Amino acid sequence: MLDELCSPPNLYIDGKWVHAVGGGTRDIVNPADGTVIATIDEADRADAVTAVAAARAAFDTGGWPQTPVTERVAYLLRIADLLGEERDALARIETLDTGKTLRESYIDIDDVISVFRYYANLAVTGADRLIDTGNPAIISRVVREPVGVCALIAPWNYPLLQMSWKIAPALAAGCTMVAKPSEVTPLSTIALMRLIDRAGVPPGVVNLIQSSGGTVGSALTDTPDVDLISFTGGAATGETIARNAATHITKVALELGGKNPHIICADADFDSAVDAVLTGAFLHSGQVCSAGTRLIVHESIADDFVTELTRRARNIRIGPGMDEASETGPLVSGQHRAKVEAYVALGIAEGATLITGGSRPDDKHLQAGSYFLPTIFDDCRRWMRIVQEETFGPILTVERFTDDAEAIALGNDTAYGLAAGVRTADPARGERMVRALRHGTVWLNDFGYYTPAAEWGGFGRSGIGRELGPSGLAEYQETKHIWHNTAPAVGGWFADN
Ligand code: NAD
Repeated sequence: MLDELCSPPNLYIDGKWVHAVGGGTRDIVNPADGTVIATIDEADRADAVTAVAAARAAFDTGGWPQTPVTERVAYLLRIADLLGEERDALARIETLDTGKTLRESYIDIDDVISVFRYYANLAVTGADRLIDTGNPAIISRVVREPVGVCALIAPWNYPLLQMSWKIAPALAAGCTMVAKPSEVTPLSTIALMRLIDRAGVPPGVVNLIQSSGGTVGSALTDTPDVDLISFTGGAATGETIARNAATHITKVALELGGKNPHIICADADFDSAVDAVLTGAFLHSGQVCSAGTRLIVHESIADDFVTELTRRARNIRIGPGMDEASETGPLVSGQHRAKVEAYVALGIAEGATLITGGSRPDDKHLQAGSYFLPTIFDDCRRWMRIVQEETFGPILTVERFTDDAEAIALGNDTAYGLAAGVRTADPARGERMVRALRHGTVWLNDFGYYTPAAEWGGFGRSGIGRELGPSGLAEYQETKHIWHNTAPAVGGWFADN
């Protein structure tokens, strides 16, 4: 059994740890070996309705929105401290649940701590504005207020990180919330909630529901009691949520998928470019929304580039995330691996050339886990589904370009627009290309990095709104204009006769 941080009961509603009313449970499986690592409570719709009501009461009558910002900041900093104290346990939980390597989990936990500290700092700076109306009797102010009750829904690939990008700014803004992690990887969010409880955050401010989206999704997204839905996950789920939200004109923030181009110009430093493409495509076995799984490489270097990339990909050490020798772990589940395998079959059927991978590893120690080899398809064309769709696995497609205009055209030929990379030794060319690419994050001579202080989000089908940075706080705030006349007098618009 896993750490006591995740032990049942696993629903946290109105400051109490409770079992699901229907008595449902769910087994959580370690993708590295198929073993059950925890059995947790599985909520029904009724639990979600209760959780929303608790958040509603905490917002409307519980006094949380009126809490001085310094007090909210103290909670955020306390949570950050507690996360630091439980860093080892949290990293272990994340690795066992998601399959990612322990090294990656530690990076995630440190980033989670940073995001709580970042929003603690940002919250006290304030964003209120005084407007000069030209009339000294008028005080015109634009103030920020919490948006209200938030439904926070997260995916399975970066469970704690994605949820923290929502909880930290929502708390900083003075919102109350119901958090729903993915049913596939819920454990680290349960652990986080224990720490939020330990930090003394008042009852009802943060509530936690465990279940599938199909069971509780509509209770969180198709209701007038929720003021903002912040969702990270797949585009198809995003569409459903946006439709539900439209019924009540509920605000939505959507962080959806990506199919992210990585453009390598002929003048780019060869070895560091190969290394960046390899990491961008195969880190966490490609289960990254911003994975650079679409290589667009200049034709003059393409053959050498693909040869070296293939050599490096074949050397990637796959294994359990808990094993320090592993460089990447399994896919999150057998079900997800089947989806990735279907994309490999599709790529072959579409006429792409399978250069390496495309199958499960032979190693007998890995047979019980949902592992898949790093896979490269050459001779790809822009119309192929394998080039256009998010496979969310370790599949890299290769396209060649002849000039910069073609590289940009290919890089922008996507319904998504989450992230892109450019590598060139020419700063002016780099600047031209990054400005021309229609993606929410563009890396020049780097790939995959982010900071809590810079906005994250997508153009096109990659979503609506931004997380992180000042915009990530603004998502959880309403703007109010207060016009104060300090010397009221008869206006005289209508004659008094
Ligand atoms: P998913 O859409 O299947 O599920 C995401 C969450 O939505 C889960 O908690 C799930 O239970 C819930 N859900 C499912 N149906 C729902 C419904 N009808 N109503 C309400 N909630 C519902 O996504 P996933 O497979 O967990 O995650 C992978 C996807 O997430 C990929 O597309 C990836 O690109 C994306 N992602 C995006 C970002 C980003 O920052 N843009 C970050 C991480 C992951």
